[in-house]
Amino acid sequence: MEVVRTITELREHVRNWREKDESVGLVPTMGGLHAGHLSLVEHSRRHANRTITTLFVNPSQFAPHEDFATYPRKEQADHDILAAAGNDLLFAPNVSEIYPDGHSTRVDIQGLSQILEGEFRPNFFTGVATVVTKLLLQALPDVAVFGEKDYQQLCVIKTMARDLDIPVQIIGAKTIREEDGLAMSSRNQYLSVEERKIAPVLYQVMAQVAQNVRGGEQPASQRTWAEAELTKAGFGAVDYVAVRDAQTLDPVRDASRPARVLAAAYIGRTRLIDNVAV
Ligand code: AMP
Repeated sequence: MEVVRTITELREHVRNWREKDESVGLVPTMGGLHAGHLSLVEHSRRHANRTITTLFVNPSQFAPHEDFATYPRKEQADHDILAAAGNDLLFAPNVSEIYPDGHSTRVDIQGLSQILEGEFRPNFFTGVATVVTKLLLQALPDVAVFGEKDYQQLCVIKTMARDLDIPVQIIGAKTIREEDGLAMSSRNQYLSVEERKIAPVLYQVMAQVAQNVRGGEQPASQRTWAEAELTKAGFGAVDYVAVRDAQTLDPVRDASRPARVLAAAYIGRTRLIDNVAV
């Protein structure tokens, strides 16, 4: 597996593949790879002849008080995992390759970027959409794979690709979980032993909310119940527990259309997000 750090080298590989009529899949990541990321690589390999995984801790999606400096960076380990998984190319650019001096364009998705995660992380989706637009235009893949783990992000990226006429199929991949239900995440490494024991309660509570809503409970009543359960288990601030339309993320009153439970909550200083289908 080759590693490239410049857009020129990336495009050269893609051009060579295109000349042989090979299709291309893209898997954007920030590294700290786990089985969830590898499932995206598997999806890409099923849909395309060649897979490019990108490794870039994107500064523009972190707020000043967030964990950009301490985010897990393990390029050698990530490299070995990807090579073993049959990934064809690793694109690991430096920050100056993606944001050279004078870079001033931002991709902003109105509405969808401002709710839920966007309410608590105001510039997050602009940072994500900007970097993903750039990666898609740099590689021009046939397919790009994103995890349902970041469900709102997947919705934002689908909307952005559609609105900007980017010729790519966006594929969503199911959330990969630990045996006890905790969604795999690079940030789980921040949890202490005690916190790690509490963490799966987030998934359990959300699964219960989904079941309650399916059984006819009002979505609005569930937030209070879920928040109390999380607090009882040892969670700190609960940013949101919401039941939303699975496509638009608009609030829903019942389970008559496909819906999604989405939540974000702190354990100690670590913020976990997760979602489940109703
Ligand atoms: P990240 O490196 O956290 O930015 O994630 C890169 C991609 O992997 C995103 O599309 C995530 O949604 C996806 N991803 C992260 N965790 C999981 C998981 N547990 N299961 C499936 N996909 C995931």
